[in-house]
Amino acid sequence: MIDIKSMTYPQLKAFMEGMGEKAFRADQLYAWLHQKLVTSFDDMTNLSRELREQLKQRCTLAGAKVVQQQISQLDGTRKFLMELSDGQRVESVWMQYKHGNSVCVSSQAGCRMGCRFCASTVGGLVRNLTTGEILDQVYEIQRVTGERVSNVILMGIGEPLDNYDNVVRFIRMISGEEGLHISQRNITLSTCGLVERIYDLIREKLTVTLAISLHAPNDALRRRMMPVAERYSIEEIMKACHAYVEQTGRRITFEYTMVEGQNDTPEHARQLCRLLRGLNCHVNLIPLNAVEGRLGTRSKGADIEGFKLLLAKNHTNVTIRRELGSDIDAACGQLRNQNKGGETT
Ligand code: SF4
Repeated sequence: MIDIKSMTYPQLKAFMEGMGEKAFRADQLYAWLHQKLVTSFDDMTNLSRELREQLKQRCTLAGAKVVQQQISQLDGTRKFLMELSDGQRVESVWMQYKHGNSVCVSSQAGCRMGCRFCASTVGGLVRNLTTGEILDQVYEIQRVTGERVSNVILMGIGEPLDNYDNVVRFIRMISGEEGLHISQRNITLSTCGLVERIYDLIREKLTVTLAISLHAPNDALRRRMMPVAERYSIEEIMKACHAYVEQTGRRITFEYTMVEGQNDTPEHARQLCRLLRGLNCHVNLIPLNAVEGRLGTRSKGADIEGFKLLLAKNHTNVTIRRELGSDIDAACGQLRNQNKGGETT
């Protein structure tokens, strides 16, 4: 079956022409899929019955379906377990902010990066998500909540740049005016730092916010926390970040998970300041959501505050991530790990 939801607008146009249909039929179909977000060909009422039948025979609309939902009683954050057509399960999170609704999506079922504090990598990578499956997480959440999504964060299960083509296509489609038209400036892509792919991303000329999962201010420590640090030094990552800022004019975010006794001392803060000097960036300090069997426990509140203060004194933009949904399974990958029913590995 043809995965019609993953087709870009020009691809869908060519496909419809190949079926002998006029170009405006592709406009109608694309709008049903990517603006009106219908889940059945029967709902596409301005297409002829005959065309709908043909599409049903040849194409699938399968994407992501909510199978479990946790709602925070504290702030309304919702965590969704989504099932894909082959039974794989991923997580997506819906968060409400003053500036609008954000959705954090997964880009892979599992992850092969092996970060030692992360639940999503337990069991490794099963497969990449298709473009349609990444899109459908946002669409499904709009359908379920009835609210418009204005910000998208690629920070769920998986390393987005390890599923490069589908992720870039996702960004183009969700930001395109024929789709939900979410500004690329409201899209954040978080990576553990696959350097060649950052340069590829620069060449795409997108204007998304790049977030680097840094978590350590020196290579020795980073290697202990993240196996990917064996492949790329912090120096290489920083060079790529400077190039990204230069080309896009966008400020970079550095994610820094605070792990007690590992990366949270004043000396680590000073090293981080030296590293980021002169770069248009922002540091997001994340109190660790400890995962059983994974590295470390959360830094003490006073240590996190002290770390932040040191960075701020050194003129580094810094915030402590506001904890949303702290009363639900907040660490990414935990909900999926508890619901392994559909997994093939
Ligand atoms: S933190 Fe991200 S890149 Fe690292 S293992 Fe988890 S999902 Fe993969």
